[in-house]
Amino acid sequence: MGIVVQKYGGSSLADADAIKRVARRIVDVKKSGHDVVVAVSAMGDTTDDLLDLATGVSPLPPAREMDMLLTAGERISMALVAMAISDLGFTARSFTGSQAGVITDSVHGKAKIIDVTPGRITQAIGEGHIVIVAGFQGVSADTKEITTLGRGGTDTTAVALAAALEADVCEIYTDVDGVFTADPRIVPSARKLGRVSYEEMLELAACGAKILHLRCVEYGRRYGIPIHVRSSFSQLEGTWVVNDPQLSGPSQGETMEQPIIAGVAHDRSEAKITVVGVPDKVGEAARIFEALADAQINLDMIVQNISAAATSLTDISFTLPRSDGQTAMTALARIQAEVGYDKLLYDDKIGKVSLIGAGMRSHPGITSKFFGALASAGVNIGMISTSEIRISVIVDENAVDDAVRATHTAFDLDADEVEAVVYGGTGR
Ligand code: ASP
Ligand code: MG
Repeated sequence: MGIVVQKYGGSSLADADAIKRVARRIVDVKKSGHDVVVAVSAMGDTTDDLLDLATGVSPLPPAREMDMLLTAGERISMALVAMAISDLGFTARSFTGSQAGVITDSVHGKAKIIDVTPGRITQAIGEGHIVIVAGFQGVSADTKEITTLGRGGTDTTAVALAAALEADVCEIYTDVDGVFTADPRIVPSARKLGRVSYEEMLELAACGAKILHLRCVEYGRRYGIPIHVRSSFSQLEGTWVVNDPQLSGPSQGETMEQPIIAGVAHDRSEAKITVVGVPDKVGEAARIFEALADAQINLDMIVQNISAAATSLTDISFTLPRSDGQTAMTALARIQAEVGYDKLLYDDKIGKVSLIGAGMRSHPGITSKFFGALASAGVNIGMISTSEIRISVIVDENAVDDAVRATHTAFDLDADEVEAVVYGGTGR
């Protein structure tokens, strides 16, 4: 039988009892005849606690040392899970990301996996062991330094291992039963999706749904690895992230039409910068965004107003991760004289609400229904952006919950009975 790759998140490994429970689940899979490779996250809120500790000793900790620190969280988990497994009479071998052959680029804090060379894993499997890998980390091919993949990166470790080992499936164990039509913490009547396409899941993850790491979904799509998101606290079937959810339906293509909307996502991690009074001439926008690119800032929405005829000046607004706010403001301040803009405005009291569904391609009227729902809920729209299968709006931070609920209801996504159980986690 084939290899099963599993990932357990921090809330599934919160304490010794939780670790023993996870060990039993892992051993059950091994008993059923599969080889098992498991990627583990740091226990509970360990990563946040380590981050707090770091900022306690230094306001700007060096990125290399931060990675050395944070990777310790996953090492604790991997060793404890391996111990719990051996207590059940099975043998396990734990490996750091580096030992497991997770090769990355050299960007500390958000490294990308460039290769996986799982020689030690396949050897350990061959010797009959269960393999436990520390998630969220790797080693840089260039610098030989230890790197981390960004918050939530253990999902990506798991899918990358599944691809390298040609596993049949990658199971992502978390503290909810799957991917829901909205965050059940905000919309208790959210529905569990049985299946969702990679492309919709990519949009959901990119728009703030924290259930899966964005790059894990990209990886899954690229290598065609089916991802099964499910709870480690129940035995329920979760959500399958696959190429074409319809193809795997009961009778292919017949009446099993895909729902138009997959879900509503929200994100409170962005900020908005407005460059006020930019001269309306060739090359100005290019200069501004070049400065931001040089500062390694990922932008999200960008809006440029038409210039006022009298002044020939325009405003450019964009959103970006709040954590990059300071860097972006500094980079822009440096080019003020050169560009000749008036001033910069910074606003981090914003939130983004996104409606996502592949059915948007073929169904008109989605935008008007969405904006109508927001209007009825008294929510003002600050900025708008769209893709083929997504509409996102920026709203006031305090209006996010209302906006999500109103949209969810307007598109008939509410379940009749409450399906969503949040089993664990502090939501930190
Ligand atoms: N422990 C890391 C985090 O909390 C990685 C992960 O959980 O996947 O972000
Ligand atoms: Mg975590």
